[in-house]
Amino acid sequence: MKIRHQVSDALLLDYATGVLSEGWRIAIATHLALSPQSRRRLALMEMAGGALVRDLPPEPSPLDEERSWMALIRRLENSKTQDEAPPPGRNPQNAAFVVLPEPLRSYVGGDVASVKWRPLGRGAYHLPIAMDDKNTMVRLLRIPAGKPVPEHGHRGRELTLVLSGSFRDGEALFTRGDLEEADETLQHQPVATEGEDCICLAVTDAPLKFRSWLVRAVQPILGI
Ligand code: ZN
Repeated sequence: MKIRHQVSDALLLDYATGVLSEGWRIAIATHLALSPQSRRRLALMEMAGGALVRDLPPEPSPLDEERSWMALIRRLENSKTQDEAPPPGRNPQNAAFVVLPEPLRSYVGGDVASVKWRPLGRGAYHLPIAMDDKNTMVRLLRIPAGKPVPEHGHRGRELTLVLSGSFRDGEALFTRGDLEEADETLQHQPVATEGEDCICLAVTDAPLKFRSWLVRAVQPILGI
C-alpha cells in the first residue's frame, strides 16, 4: 500500500462520521492534535458534509433524524475533545513541552514521565492502554534509538503515530505527528533513528505476523 504521513481520506471520513471504534478514534484525534494539515482537511470534509446535508431532500424519516442527531452529538463530542487539546508545542527543550497531547494523555494518566513502561525485550518497552471497544489493541511503544522493530506483516489495520523521536520505514521518515497506516498488503521493519528513543502510539485490530520464530514464540506472552 502507498506510504503516507497523514491520515487517509477514507479513515478521516470514518472519523468525521463517528463510525470508528475507540482505539482508531484516539489515534486519529491525537494525530489531529499534532497535525494542522489534517485538521484543515477534516474542516473541509465537514464543510462538504454540511453542504451535502443542506442539499438532502426535505422530510427525513424518524430513523434518519435519529441517525443524524446521533452523528451531530458525536461530532460535538469530537470537536470538544479537539478544542480542549493544548497547543502541542514544537520545542522539546521548552519545560512546558507535552509529548502526549490530549486526548491520549487522559488515557495514559499523564505525560511520558508518568508512564510505567513494561519491557518487551531488546531494549524496547510498551504500555498497553485499556479500551472499552474490545476491537482494537492500543499501546504506547518505546523503540530504542537506532534499533529496529522485528519484521512483520499484518492481519488487519495498524496505525502508528509518532509522539517523540522518529523512525524510518524503508525510504520514508516518520517524525512527531506523522501517522503510518498499514494493512495486510504491507510487510515492514520500522527502525528508530539514531540519537533518541522513538515513542509511538500503535493501534491494531489483529495480532501481527512476525517473521522471527523467536518473536512468534513470545508473542502470546507479550500480547502483541
Ligand atoms: Zn506494522
